[in-house]
Amino acid sequence: MNRKRLLYIHTGGTLGMTPKGDPGPLAPSDYAENVLPFVRGLEELVEIDGVAIANIDSTDMTPALWEAMAAQVADGLDRYDGFVIIHGTDTMAFTASALSFLLENLPRPVVLTGSQRPIAALRTDARQNLLHASICATLDLPEVGICFDDELLRGNRATKVSVQSYRAFASPGLEPLVRMGVDLTFPTPCRRPTGPFRLRRGFSTKVVPISLYPGAPARLIDLIVDMGATGIVLRAFGAGNVPLDGWPEAIGRATAAGVPVVIGTQCLHGAVELGRYAGSAAAMEAGAISAGAMTPESTLTRTMFLLGQGLDLEGFSEAWQTDFAGEI
Ligand code: ASP
Repeated sequence: MNRKRLLYIHTGGTLGMTPKGDPGPLAPSDYAENVLPFVRGLEELVEIDGVAIANIDSTDMTPALWEAMAAQVADGLDRYDGFVIIHGTDTMAFTASALSFLLENLPRPVVLTGSQRPIAALRTDARQNLLHASICATLDLPEVGICFDDELLRGNRATKVSVQSYRAFASPGLEPLVRMGVDLTFPTPCRRPTGPFRLRRGFSTKVVPISLYPGAPARLIDLIVDMGATGIVLRAFGAGNVPLDGWPEAIGRATAAGVPVVIGTQCLHGAVELGRYAGSAAAMEAGAISAGAMTPESTLTRTMFLLGQGLDLEGFSEAWQTDFAGEI
């Protein structure tokens, strides 16, 4: 049998951690790269190479590491049929979204996975996650996905929803790409490249997210603009509503200063619909841009990515309408 070739890209996370002291907090451990002994039998199906580009708790993830992961994938496209990225769950959805923007017209699967418990723990979810992720990485699914429990989700539509459950991620607006029961099913058809592969770069790290709360002062926006932010992502209420007391005017001032204000929602399900209520109609009038049904992770990384391309407000607003990787 011709075995498929996979590259495991290790970045860290609980999957490869051990307790520091006994008992103690979990920390990345030396055996992190040596996960293969825990998934014996997999080598009959696939040939695996591994590279560790970091060994961190994903709380310490950075855009520079997103670019390093993307470069590693780009470098291996000729040699590997698929890629598995081992990553902490806390920021996995940010990384998956960022990679989906960096890897334009991706021709192979890039599957992120991790676990809620270390792979060496007896009652671990890591073995199944790694096994399922590896299987997904052999399929003809040229997307960046998150494989957790028994699902493969489109990476830029996934969000972490549980610190407790082995089903840590959900994709509220889109059915999974793969459901892994006794048989594999494919509820959402995957995307296909529409042109040659291109490795992109660049994120602005001066995009500031704000979560609205009752009584939040609108001058927060002015303070953020004065601090030199390149963009603001506002997690507004419901369908994208902002308070009428000063917020539309503040959004107008930011926009006039060339700082885009993207409006998302604090709700898990449904989409922003600017104009449906007075608060969002005024925000739209002031120049706010809708995040639609995008996840918070995707909205933020997409804003960072587009502003990292050096776009001005007009270019940003135009590019914002494009669906780059199925995130809209
Ligand atoms: N704090 C860990 C991390 O994100 C949690 C995990 O891996 O699940 O690296």
